[in-house]
Amino acid sequence: MPENIERVRDRITRAAAQCGRSVDSVTLIAVSKSQPATAIAAASRAGVKHFGESYLKEALEKMSAVKERDITWHFIGTLQANKTRAIAENFEWVHSVDRLRIAERLSAQRPYHAPPLNVCVQVNIGGELSKGGAASEDLADLFAGMGKLPRLKLRGLMCLPPEEDEPERQRHWFAQLRERFDELNRDGAGLDTLSMGMSGDFEAAVLEGATMVRVGTAIFGPRTNTMRSA
Ligand SMILES: *Cc1c(COP(=O)(O)O)cnc(C)c1O
Repeated sequence: MPENIERVRDRITRAAAQCGRSVDSVTLIAVSKSQPATAIAAASRAGVKHFGESYLKEALEKMSAVKERDITWHFIGTLQANKTRAIAENFEWVHSVDRLRIAERLSAQRPYHAPPLNVCVQVNIGGELSKGGAASEDLADLFAGMGKLPRLKLRGLMCLPPEEDEPERQRHWFAQLRERFDELNRDGAGLDTLSMGMSGDFEAAVLEGATMVRVGTAIFGPRTNTMRSA
């Protein structure tokens, strides 16, 4: 697995160089959902600092099993109201906020001694019925509401675009998210994070400005799904 991490890092470096960006402008999040705690520990020893999880119960079990320090945990899965407290207490980042009610709960439940929770709003960039995420046209209202929440730090946008066979088509979705990001910043949103790109398409995402890529199978190999539990 250290070789996989090396390979993914090389590909990020090359994509960044291709568009004149520094490799330091892209944070690699290793998506460890459905992978055992031993795999997280190994990736951590190989230098990975950020880990992404989608299923709360599984994530909490692994957090208590992994002894390596210096890990930043990102929640990237579907958010349900009854899970927000544990997420606000145990993660440093949440990428999948898509409605005000969930944002309000995360802010209210963030422990007062912890720094504000970093959040990205998930955008349903392809307008797909099967996927979560806020509609692109609702972002301004959502941001206005979220801006008042004291315990959240609004960092940026995240997307899970439709799967396309052609890399050029894939890139077009990332470009759309980046355009929304630029528009919001022109209106003073002050965002610094574009969370986009997975194993199959992270280079295209970097070319369109991704600052965080979420890579699972290219690092850990296929998921078995046996550990999956909400
Ligand atoms: C599973 C998942 C990923 C990683 O997917 P891979 O194709 O394994 O790299 C990234 N982002 C989200 C939101 C995910 O659920």
